[in-house]
Amino acid sequence: MDSVLPETVRPVYDAVLKRNPHEPEFHQAVHEVLESIVPVVEQHPAFAESGILERLVEPERQIMFRVPWIDDQGVLQVNRGFRVQFSSVLGPYKGGLRFHSSVNLSIIKFLGFEQIFKNALTGQGIGGAKGGSDFDPHGRSDGEIMRFCQSFMNELYRHLGEHTDVPAGDIGVGAREIGYLFGQYRKITNRHESGMFTGKGVSWGGAEVRTEATGYGSVFFIEEMLGVHGESLAGKRVIVSGSGNVAIYAIEKATQLGAIPITASDSSGYIIDEDGIDVALLKQVKEVERARISEYAARKPGARFVEGARVWEVPGEIAIPCATQNELDGDDARALVASGVRAVAEGANMPCLPEAVLVFQQAGVLFAPGKAANAGGVATSALEMSQNAARQRWGFNDSEEKLRHIMANVHASAFDAAARYGHPGDYVVGANCAGFERVAHAMLAQGVI
Ligand code: GLU
Repeated sequence: MDSVLPETVRPVYDAVLKRNPHEPEFHQAVHEVLESIVPVVEQHPAFAESGILERLVEPERQIMFRVPWIDDQGVLQVNRGFRVQFSSVLGPYKGGLRFHSSVNLSIIKFLGFEQIFKNALTGQGIGGAKGGSDFDPHGRSDGEIMRFCQSFMNELYRHLGEHTDVPAGDIGVGAREIGYLFGQYRKITNRHESGMFTGKGVSWGGAEVRTEATGYGSVFFIEEMLGVHGESLAGKRVIVSGSGNVAIYAIEKATQLGAIPITASDSSGYIIDEDGIDVALLKQVKEVERARISEYAARKPGARFVEGARVWEVPGEIAIPCATQNELDGDDARALVASGVRAVAEGANMPCLPEAVLVFQQAGVLFAPGKAANAGGVATSALEMSQNAARQRWGFNDSEEKLRHIMANVHASAFDAAARYGHPGDYVVGANCAGFERVAHAMLAQGVI
């Protein structure tokens, strides 16, 4: 992964390695950003003079805490909670909570770091943060989930607030968990503070389209990328990984726009349905029953379940990795290129390994990094915050139109910055430079803090 960084940024990276040993995902995310922003740093000597990079790679605050709870057998369980408040220079800390057994400080820091630039790229007033726990919700009863969420919030509440830090969902944290977390915050603080959480139920302060936003947004971004070349999604086979919130709504929007999504996956394998995924059945299996993805194939004639394999062996013109970090490696990318992939958009955060990104770019595949392609989720969270502040609720169509407009702007910002800094068509450079410019100028204006 470690291509040698130019002298402009290498000392910052070396210091990150030294100060944060054993955090490979965090190193990977920092490396990618530093590599991209060299031309911005070179054109703005004031950024180096006031230590913008040294400050940016150090979170403003990191919170780690014990989360004790009692399971259904009466046995005491202890998990670890995290919230990394990376940057509040553009607005209150903003970013999701992830509940997954793989969660550790490195993963939360990589996600929080990415979130700074993603959020900046949306053009809205939101800082960057991420949090979560190594708690695994799979197979847990509603009662266990509720007790865990309440214990988690017993500590985290003191660090939150609509002007301080506004969490949302991520892997393992959906409407059910957000309800329990919000309820406990309200109980402890005696405040129904709608703006301290996003992704809430629509009947109690949530925004229309928030559930759909990340997946829809990634498809809108692909439309924009294809549009530059006079192409469209119509009739294209779409390979999607994952079967959570992002995957389901990427599949739904791609279908509505005339494409043919044919796969979805979970940790046990993938399903392939050449007729195009039946979104209603997928929702029934994953959202209502919380069952394994194989259940889809068991109920849908013509669909197949492929155990223990990855979707990238299936040929298609569009690929949207929507599962998790580092799920698509160099070999997967070569397989997709060989089968004629035209565009790849990261629905998840950092799903493609650096080698895979290189393979796509060298083959001339349109490649959208997560901080651009999946920015629609957090952008719609900012719309939810606006609605909460104004005590308003906007309709579905209106909200979707706003999301479409935001994604077109995110695309335009990344596209323009890539060209301005000498890498036309490179959305990795473009997204990083556009996000970084905004954050760095704000840091410069607000002094050394
Ligand atoms: N977890 C989502 C992300 O990765 C959404 C964060 C939010 O809405 O605050 O951007």
